Amino acid sequence: MAQVVIKPAQFGQGLFAVEPIVAGTVIGVATGPIINFSTALQKNDRECDALQVEPDSYLDWPDPLRLANHSCQPNCGLRNLEFVTLRDLMPGEEILWDYSTSMDEDSWTMTCLCGSPNCRGTIKDFRLLPPTLQQHYLSLGIVLPFIAEQYG
Ligand SMILES: [Zn+2]
Repeated sequence: MAQVVIKPAQFGQGLFAVEPIVAGTVIGVATGPIINFSTALQKNDRECDALQVEPDSYLDWPDPLRLANHSCQPNCGLRNLEFVTLRDLMPGEEILWDYSTSMDEDSWTMTCLCGSPNCRGTIKDFRLLPPTLQQHYLSLGIVLPFIAEQYG
């Protein structure tokens, strides 16, 4: 985690590159205790703080990776549980990934204000993404396995 730092972001805190990071770099691995959906709900107000890894299993992951914010035009993704850069990042760029690549729960949605030209307006489950975008993320290998296997 030497290459990123926690700083104030557009909303709350975020993760930012502190040096150039080339595409394909693993900047961290998501780890933490596994909790179920109801525990995830109780633990944090909103289960979005925990990372869904199976239909009823959530990773209660700690800072700093937990603080990485969503974008509809992500520059990072979760390949299995490795946070990998999708393109070269400049110092000061925020680490952004698409929350929908880890969501299949029929519960949580969030209004998106990411500001990217292709912003979808609402963050929702992977299955509700446009099919072309699903295929794009699947081809990049950044859809969590429990979701990707339903599309294989
Ligand atoms: Zn957006």
